[in-house]
Parts: sequence; C-alpha cells; structure tokens
Amino acid sequence: MTEEPLKQPALRVEGVRKSYGQVVAVDGVDLVVAEGEFFTLLGPSGSGKTTLLRLIAGFERPDAGRIELGGRDITSLPPYLRDTNTVFQDYALFPHMSVADNIAYGLRVKGVPKQARVKRVQRALEMVRLTGLGNRRPNQLSGGQRQRVALARAVVNEPEVLLLDEPLGALDLKLRQEMQIELKQIQKEVGITFVYVTHDQEEALTMSDRMAVLANGRIEQVGTPVEVYERPTTEFVAGFIGISNVLLRDGVRFVVRPEKIRMLAEGEQPEPGMVVESGQVEEVIYVGMSSRYLVRLDRGEQLVAVRQNMDAVGDSRRFEGRPVRLAWTPDHTYVLDTGR
Ligand code: ADP
Ligand code: MG
Repeated sequence: MTEEPLKQPALRVEGVRKSYGQVVAVDGVDLVVAEGEFFTLLGPSGSGKTTLLRLIAGFERPDAGRIELGGRDITSLPPYLRDTNTVFQDYALFPHMSVADNIAYGLRVKGVPKQARVKRVQRALEMVRLTGLGNRRPNQLSGGQRQRVALARAVVNEPEVLLLDEPLGALDLKLRQEMQIELKQIQKEVGITFVYVTHDQEEALTMSDRMAVLANGRIEQVGTPVEVYERPTTEFVAGFIGISNVLLRDGVRFVVRPEKIRMLAEGEQPEPGMVVESGQVEEVIYVGMSSRYLVRLDRGEQLVAVRQNMDAVGDSRRFEGRPVRLAWTPDHTYVLDTGR
C-alpha cells in the first residue's frame, strides 16, 4: 500500500458503506485523494464504482462512514452544497440550448453576473479546444465535442473535486485514446482534483497519478499505475490489470508478467540467475505488434509470454506444439498476498 500523500487531502473517505437491500455496493472504503491529483477508481462492472462516486457527490447517503472535502465533513450535506461536480458518460446536455448556454447554466443558477459569465464560458471553451463553437447546438457536434462541452460545463464552476463516471465510455477506441491524453492535459492545466471512474485498465494506467482497484465494493489495492501493475498485491489485481501468470512454488503464489518472460531459442543459454522452466507452446495469438504465446509448463501451469513481432515472422502459429524454455529474473516476480 502507498503512503498517504503529503499535501492537504482534497478528499477523504473513511469507512464508507452502502447497501441496497441485500446487496452491499460499497463495503467499507477508505481513501485519501491529494489536492490536484488525477485519481482513478478502477474495477469491473458491479464493483461499486458508481455508487462510491454518487456517495462523494451526495446523490446517495452512506449507511456508515464519513466523507470530507478539503478537511470539512460533508457526509450529510446535499449535493448542491458540496464543492463537487459530476461528468457522466451520456453527457446530459440540454439539447435546446446552445453550447455556450449549456456551459453557462451552472453559473446562471448561482447568480454569476452576465459579463463574468461570458468571460468564464469563453475561457472554458478555449480550455476544451472548442473556441468558436459556442453558438452551436449539441446535436451539431460530434460525440467527442459533446463530451468536451460536458467537461467545460463542469470545470467552469471551479469545483474542488471533479467526479467523472466513465466519461469516455461512449466513444470509439481511437477517439477515446485521443481524449484520454487531452483530458489528462486539461486536468493538469486547470489543476482541479479528478476522481475518475473506469472499468478500462489501460485507461486507468494511462491517465492516473494514483488509482484504487475495486472488487465487490472493496478496495483491493491503491497505488501509482507502476506500483499496481508491477507489484499487484492480490490475485484479483494481478488478473484484472494485464495478463496474470500466477505460479505456485513452495506454497507461495507469485506473479510474473508476460513481457518479463524470455522465450529461449534452441540452445540459448539463460542469463545468470534466471529461473528456467520448460514446456510446450499450446497456442499462439497474433495481436499485430506482438504475439502471445500460451505455454503449458512441464510442471502443469500455463503461462502467457509476449514477443514483439520485430521481424516479418510469417505465421507464428507454426510454433504451436513445439517444446520451449521460458526464463525470467526472480526480481521480476511478485509474491501475492496469501491472507485472502
Ligand atoms: P459499477 O459502477 O462498478 O458498475 P455500481 O456502483 O453501479 O457498480 O453497483 C454496485 C452494486 O450495487 C451492483 O451489484 C449493483 O447492482 C448494485 N446497485 C447499484 N445501484 C443500485 C440501486 N439503486 N439499487 C439496487 N442496487 C444497486
Ligand atoms: Mg458504473
């Protein structure tokens, strides 16, 4: 587990619990998010991400626990008295209003005078790279542009914490990847704390300063993307983020990531200190840049190894059925928690 960030926390969640009838959606969550952090809640569908976000926003009340924003207890405050804003996947823009009016809406409700409003909307449009499109209607924009409007509308209120629930979920892969980079840049520029929900591991790894991995309403692990990927502490985390190769040796379970495994060529000597296991290639899956080799070890377990397709290898399936030796450095393996 990571130590608590040094800066004054923007958000603190303590022992928060929420059930719907028999279903425990959030099961005792503790979290500390630092000022200006891009913090991601990552987990499979049904793991409690949205519920946790709605508890922070105030759309739901916890059965137990406490939520603080900037050091202030907000557990029993209604949403409009919390210094948060939420961006949803479906944008929720007003179709009959112009882009500029959509963005200005929250400011108008708050009674911000017109001149100040216009200025702030202008700045928000610049920030999300939509300058000049203020007069359009939402239906005259692309999906990516609509999501930018939703973001501008949330950011223009300068919330202490911005909550985002799978905001890129409706976009196709290419646009989503572009928006991931842009969203991260925008977050850095405005310096607002982001709590970002996604079920997409790659998205979480790409964008986050730190992330929490959720399963069944509980936090499995908190850490930087590198910490969580390179040193998963539970089998669930190892399997959910990336391909998990879990091995059992002398009663200890440990993980070795596919890209750390070297497939030795015939007669090739491993480097000193490497662990070597022999087996047979069961299947080769071509994935463009690389191929995945499913190898059945002589000792029984199946491991996945990855090899970059650097040469024109032709059909790498010709390797199927061949004997192979796998080697890795023990430093690149990580022991899993055994206490679960
Ligand atoms: P996620 O966003 O990670 O997919 P959710 O927070 O939406 O997960 O849901 C967590 C669990 O709580 C699920 O089992 C879901 O069915 C249940 N749940 C969420 N909201 C409600 C609700 N309003 N009523 C009943 N059950 C709910
Ligand atoms: Mg959800």
